[in-house]
Amino acid sequence: MKPITFPKDFYWGGATSSHQVEGRNTNNDWFVFEQLYGKIADGTVSGDACDHYSRFREDFALLKSLNHNAHRFSVEWSRVEPARDYISKVEVNHYRQVAESIRENGMEPFVTLHHFTTPLWLARTGGWLNPDAIERFEKFTKVMVDALGDIVTFWMPINEPVVYTFLSFMDGSYAPGMKKPLAGFNVLTHMLVAHGRSYRIIKEKYPDAQVGFNKHMRIFDPYREDNKRDRAAAARMDRVFNMDIIDALFTGETAGRVKVPVEEKTAVRESSDFLALNYYSKDSIKFSIFHPGTLFGKTIMPEGAESSHEGAYGDKPEGEYYPHGIRRLLKILDSYGQPVYVTENGVSTNNDAYRVKYMANHIAEAGRAMEDGVDLRGYLFWSTLDNFEWNEGYLMRFGMIHVDFETQERTVQDSAKLFGDIAKKNGLDDALCKKYNAVVE
Ligand code: BGC
Repeated sequence: MKPITFPKDFYWGGATSSHQVEGRNTNNDWFVFEQLYGKIADGTVSGDACDHYSRFREDFALLKSLNHNAHRFSVEWSRVEPARDYISKVEVNHYRQVAESIRENGMEPFVTLHHFTTPLWLARTGGWLNPDAIERFEKFTKVMVDALGDIVTFWMPINEPVVYTFLSFMDGSYAPGMKKPLAGFNVLTHMLVAHGRSYRIIKEKYPDAQVGFNKHMRIFDPYREDNKRDRAAAARMDRVFNMDIIDALFTGETAGRVKVPVEEKTAVRESSDFLALNYYSKDSIKFSIFHPGTLFGKTIMPEGAESSHEGAYGDKPEGEYYPHGIRRLLKILDSYGQPVYVTENGVSTNNDAYRVKYMANHIAEAGRAMEDGVDLRGYLFWSTLDNFEWNEGYLMRFGMIHVDFETQERTVQDSAKLFGDIAKKNGLDDALCKKYNAVVE
């Protein structure tokens, strides 16, 4: 391969979220959801997770030893505000220590304020379906900015609003498990407005802060390139899942089903300093009259395609392995004229050699996007540690560092070593690929 060198000061790190790694989060809507029969594929509950709440110092020291210079985490709102309007100083202090420890270990913190979990007191009044959530989130943002703003520069207020809306309020497979296909779109509006207001709160106090919009994007390509109906179905999904919300963000105008109320236009418009891409895989879309819920498109695994969720659920197609997708999407995001960061990219597998291949090929493609001119400033892998994979429980392992959930022992796998070497070299070349047996196309 042609060697790739990343720019000086490029950020290399891992990403996590509070509920997936901390353990003992018992005051949010996911905790309740997990207890319900049949909601989690392997019948587990998040429980102690990775016990990262107590072990964050050791974990960050380990990441430092692996040359990470950035780390993404999320603040668990239900800990900081366990009851409406009661702010726990102890928990605010905990996250202060987390951010400090990240810095002490030479890493740049990237902070998310909502990553799929909502405090129970808010969930009981409808959660994000209720416009009240916007104001509540503003108050929570203020608390966290006061607590961390002097040591945190990078903020992504809300993780993946479209994924959250779809899985939690339309399809119902994520907490709170609602199936309200139409009302669900209000969640998206509320989150977009909340993002915009959160942006302003952060920037008012810290004008130099960098606040980004976090977006999970997938590649939707037609299953049969020469079939008009497949092409139209793929284009519809691309619009609704990927593009509408970004258009709404940049124009402050309603885009498709993402409604922006006129009075909220200014809150939404110009509310990002960078774009954060979470990318995993591609969907090949076939037209299907029986799938109105997914806009008459059905994901098909083409023969010979590799799954990006290889391992635990081998028979469950969860998207195709498609490294070139990251390059295509980075270019699209770059066209909005802001710096771009990859804030999640990864694969679930029990076979670390496959993770090595996934990682090397995706980083190579991200590098090529940069060589094409994309203003890419960082790459954060999902995930640092194996963790609680939402409704899939503990069977799906995304970690470059393996976790034994019985003993909490961490094992640095080859993927973590490769990542550490890439970070150290600030690039990827044949020597590194050879060392880890990674074939980069
Ligand atoms: C989410 C993570 C999740 C990952 C893998 C992302 O969309 O932000 O919380 O673990 O996908 O499924």
